[in-house]
Amino acid sequence: MKRVAVLTSGGDAPGMNAAIRSCIRCGISKGWEMYGVRNGYKGLIASTIIQMGTRDVGGILQKGGTVLGSARCPEFQTVEGRELAIRNLHQTGIDALIVIGGNGSQTGNYELHKMGFPVVGIASTIDNDLYGSEMTIGVDTALNIALEALDRLKVTASSHQRAFLLEVMGRNCGYLALMSGIAGGAEAIILPEVETDIEELAEELHQAYEHGKAHAIVVVAEGAKYNAAALTQYFKDNRERLGFSVRSTILGHVQRGGEPSAFDRILGSRFGYGAIQAIERGEFGVLVGLKNNSVVATPLETVVANKKELNPELITLAKILD
Ligand code: ADP
Repeated sequence: MKRVAVLTSGGDAPGMNAAIRSCIRCGISKGWEMYGVRNGYKGLIASTIIQMGTRDVGGILQKGGTVLGSARCPEFQTVEGRELAIRNLHQTGIDALIVIGGNGSQTGNYELHKMGFPVVGIASTIDNDLYGSEMTIGVDTALNIALEALDRLKVTASSHQRAFLLEVMGRNCGYLALMSGIAGGAEAIILPEVETDIEELAEELHQAYEHGKAHAIVVVAEGAKYNAAALTQYFKDNRERLGFSVRSTILGHVQRGGEPSAFDRILGSRFGYGAIQAIERGEFGVLVGLKNNSVVATPLETVVANKKELNPELITLAKILD
């Protein structure tokens, strides 16, 4: 008999609930006692750890966000904070912890592992910037929301011969911008990973205008050097060089909400099962993620030491298609 606790940490992502549900139900199917921690690492420090049954995770699969709550917790970044967290876990009789979250959360998880507590991570962030998983929970839903926004902007842009800048989330990773730009047929995509020649971009847009193009959509990653605010200012100052009048839309947190797609629900369910299997094998200090469509465990040490790169072929393809 084991006692396993689950928490969600950092930025929420659609599909986290599918992962929680899967962890709880797969654990119970092994005859283990399962627990949920409220509000991420904050809940470990406050010891808000509650036992959960199969029915407690009913009706959550289709909901965005996380029913356990999430939080950012600076105290957890101190040794004293983590020692308190481990004391609370021991006091509740927890044998292992599953952390569902992104880069920051898995870095914290690795710290717990190094302090000797048995942990497993589940790859979940809409940014898709986590090494060790080709896709993370929430990316597919966020991508489709960005794409829907892009399609809508295209319609209104065409009616007014406007250029629209659409800023999408992703922190320092351009994955969502690149993929939504390809899927939506953007005229240009501005990524943190690629140097942007702003003069060249203005010239390209001007050419498109001169050739009678009805609209121009530029997808901008929030982490790019020229974000939507910087580009809007530049284009306003150089209006006559562009032709198009420019409008900007920042998608922001709209991208996080919404119902998880089928892909994210299935991914969350698979990752939950993968985490329980890792614990059963006694394989700790690993991140459960997706590689070649299989669920695999990668050491957290490798995960935190590496940066996930964008596929260069997709960057080339986007350039050809725009
Ligand atoms: P995400 O997991 O979405 O990347 P954050 O970067 O905000 O989200 O991290 C979530 C939480 O993980 C932080 O509030 C903090 O409690 C914990 N964390 C992040 N980095 C570290 C670290 N270097 N050491 C310990 N804990 C960390």
